[in-house]
Amino acid sequence: MGERIFLSSPHMSDEGYEMQYVKEAFDTNWIAPLGENVNQFEQELASKVGSKSAAALSSGTAAIHLALKAAGVGKGDIVFCPTLTFSATANPIIYQNAIPVFIDSDYETWNMCPKALEEAFEKYPNVKAVIVVHLYGLSADMDKIVEICKKYNAVLIEDAAESLGTYYKGKHTGTFGDFGIFSFNGNKIITTSGGGMLVSDNEEKIEKTRFWATQSRDAARHYQHSELGFNYRMSNIVAGIGRGQLKVLDNRVKKKNYIFEYYKRELGGLEGIEFMPSNEWNEPNYWLSSMTLSGKVRPLDIMEVLEKENIESRPIWKPMHKQPFFKKYDFVGTNVSENLFENGVCLPSDTKMTDSDLARVVEIIKGLWLK
Ligand SMILES: *Cc1c(COP(=O)(O)O)cnc(C)c1O
Repeated sequence: MGERIFLSSPHMSDEGYEMQYVKEAFDTNWIAPLGENVNQFEQELASKVGSKSAAALSSGTAAIHLALKAAGVGKGDIVFCPTLTFSATANPIIYQNAIPVFIDSDYETWNMCPKALEEAFEKYPNVKAVIVVHLYGLSADMDKIVEICKKYNAVLIEDAAESLGTYYKGKHTGTFGDFGIFSFNGNKIITTSGGGMLVSDNEEKIEKTRFWATQSRDAARHYQHSELGFNYRMSNIVAGIGRGQLKVLDNRVKKKNYIFEYYKRELGGLEGIEFMPSNEWNEPNYWLSSMTLSGKVRPLDIMEVLEKENIESRPIWKPMHKQPFFKKYDFVGTNVSENLFENGVCLPSDTKMTDSDLARVVEIIKGLWLK
């Protein structure tokens, strides 16, 4: 059996940038709390994506949580959320004692369907906030979604956890809404071992989230708290890894694009295969190369035959409105997300893959069509 091929695993720079920043933190004993790496990582990421300010946090999930809190979402408020996503998008709605309403995807973007969103607003006109996700590095149709949110005066939060390096009409995803969040979890396009970032042009709100994230300590000599606090700040060590990783982000995007083009060229002609959608306005980071199947070969056939050869792949996210925990909440749409889930598969998209790894994956998959 060949060496394990991962879906998407951590890929540190060849130059050792991450270690240099971590070493600086050790040398100056800025292990914790906070420190220069945290400040610099915030500035460097904000400038990379074109946002005025950023707060480095312990995870993408924490960033979504504080974005909802900054949006004023609280007990009993309704929040619109895509149904086709990872549960981390929806969980913080519950942390705030708010109520998610799940919105279907469309086939053109795989992301939140603007028509379904409009329909949802007709049903619930007084919604505080909308979370939109850019799945697998494909951007949602932001012009339409921003317009609808403006019309109904709702705060827009972009879950760009999977789309660092993705642009919509030349503007970075995560910067269209009132807040954007990024994740540096282990399988994301760049990783800090775990961490997240909240970005916004509203510097005051970002400053406030830094306050909440450090246990809401009032400016007093003694420990005084006039608000509920959280322990959500990123450490100076972790931020050092992030600074190093940010230097190689463009290379990682290039490699993910290369992987996607390779699969599309080699597998695109097989009967029943359709790759993730491309739109003229979309410059994806292709975090995970994904496709749907409509012929005899099923997603499970591909996942099983790859696993036998020690190669990781996985299904498309299972819609939230079909999850035991979330199924009691309302859903607006048809069966697009369910179809994508039932027919979709994410192929190994690890940036350390060589051409011979890619050839190996392609040959195994092609074999299923020869049977
Ligand atoms: C990874 C991910 C998150 C959560 O990020 P963490 O840093 O792991 O908390 C949120 N939303 C989506 C869509 C993700 O893929």
